[in-house]
Amino acid sequence: MSSEQVFDVIVVGSGGGALAAAHLATKHGLSTAVVERTDKVGGTSAYSGGACWLPGTQVQARLGIADSTESARTYLGALLDDPDTAKVEAFLAEAPRLVAELEEDELIEFEFTPFPEYYDRPGRVSGGRSIQPSNILRTDLPEQVDALLRPPVERDRQGQGGRRTLSGGQALIGRLLAAFVRDGGTVLTGHTMTELTLDGDRVSGVVAQTEAGPVTLTATRGVILASGGYEGSQERREARGVAGSAAWTMAPRGTNQGEPIDAAAAIGAATGLLDEGWFCPGLAQPDGSGTFTLGFRSGVMLDADGQRYANECLPYDRFGREMAADPKRIPSWFVFDNAEGGNLPAIAMPEGDHEAHFAAGTWITADTLEELAEKLEMPSLPASVKRFNEFCETGVDEDFGRGADEYDTFFSFGTGANKALNPVAVAPFYAARFVLSDLGTKGGVVTDAAARALRPDGSVVEGLYATSNATASLFGAYYPGPGAPLGSAMVFGSLAVRDILGS
Ligand SMILES: Cc1cc2nc3c(=O)[nH]c(=O)nc-3n(C[C@H](O)[C@H](O)[C@H](O)COP(=O)(O)OP(=O)(O)OC[C@H]3O[C@@H](n4cnc5c(N)ncnc54)[C@H](O)[C@@H]3O)c2cc1C
Repeated sequence: MSSEQVFDVIVVGSGGGALAAAHLATKHGLSTAVVERTDKVGGTSAYSGGACWLPGTQVQARLGIADSTESARTYLGALLDDPDTAKVEAFLAEAPRLVAELEEDELIEFEFTPFPEYYDRPGRVSGGRSIQPSNILRTDLPEQVDALLRPPVERDRQGQGGRRTLSGGQALIGRLLAAFVRDGGTVLTGHTMTELTLDGDRVSGVVAQTEAGPVTLTATRGVILASGGYEGSQERREARGVAGSAAWTMAPRGTNQGEPIDAAAAIGAATGLLDEGWFCPGLAQPDGSGTFTLGFRSGVMLDADGQRYANECLPYDRFGREMAADPKRIPSWFVFDNAEGGNLPAIAMPEGDHEAHFAAGTWITADTLEELAEKLEMPSLPASVKRFNEFCETGVDEDFGRGADEYDTFFSFGTGANKALNPVAVAPFYAARFVLSDLGTKGGVVTDAAARALRPDGSVVEGLYATSNATASLFGAYYPGPGAPLGSAMVFGSLAVRDILGS
């Protein structure tokens, strides 16, 4: 069966970048369809904290928070290797305009929450510069949004529904989706986009697979790919050398496989950064999955030899890259004590049921460190913990400098010489298995400063735009600060719409 529908703009995917673009397109009078493969809207973005790294916006300004486009330019300039300066400038110029335009809508409102940036580089702003949508009640949004919104990760993975108060990524997706449907936007769930159609050299629409068969959707003004990466495809990960595993990714099950990126490549678009991802340590779960963990407050991460190998308080992407650097580090074992009543001294999304962990062997416990070492067959574990505990006394981590950076102590409540150095001392002791997880891949379609897809020779693929983890990230191998994935996805989604509108 084949049927055809015509829109001005087709947005593939329904994360933050997709819905920012879709909302803005609809707001400016373009008939717009969001094409989403699952029956839920929001993807990984709905699982997220909703932080958006958007420098120099009115949100920071109205609170008198130190931040500016200039300092962000300095920071990115000091951080990125060989950046595309036209794209950096487009990002910096658009971030404030985007937020101003989004906040014109009564449904959309942001606030600032301090969250340090991830690198100590010139231009870094203390407390960071990420903003996030204000909480909103489900009942304040249209029923259609209530039915479509993907629940938060800890509930979605259990097959449960969402919460009454929407915060973080829930609020971001809920708010954008509400504005989009209010303005007459079309949401096509159960549509897996697999191909782009051409009219001459120009992209004219997409082919999507549905339960009823393939459908052709025509886009008279443009197709915007915002369909996440291919973190959920083990085959593509392996072929492209992405560290980690599809089993350990945080993307919702059955979402991001990367066909849209392949479809763009099939019509001549260039791709880049294909081995890249937004990495993080993943708490191994009894079902074989991994869950994003950040904010370690105590404990030590040990490799297969029972040795520490990095500052456990590093920003998660940086710690993930440390894990990826040596096969001895996957899995790692995170050794912690009973100071928090047997809970992991970190934020795991989600932590999982402790009894299930013990039954599966993803968590091990023992009354002494020696016994724990025996159970893990890791003889040097006690000595590694002893050395760490000595650092806790002096307040100086001589091996990895834990606690020296603003980020290290952000999540800690320690009262010792160094807030990030809290000894592993209260029996019983625990070891939790860690794998290399990710928040998505970040290689894909190569785009210009207007989010237009480019061919390898630099020419523009007319009618095709890309943003989100479907593109080669502006940030290359770096994760500059909290909200970088969503902030950049929304900015380039907005720039795509501006280009389509000619504004
Ligand atoms: C717990 C957690 C917290 C996080 N917190 C933050 C944060 O605060 N700030 C931040 O910036 N980032 C955060 N991240 C990372 C961030 O959520 C993701 O990197 C980002 O949301 C990815 O956005 P995306 O639009 O590329 O993909 P997604 O949000 O995953 O959306 C892609 C959508 O496209 C759909 N799709 C895929 N293929 C097709 C196809 N062929 N046809 C149709 N539809 C398709 C998928 O089903 C999915 O719904 C967090 C991640 C997690 C897991």
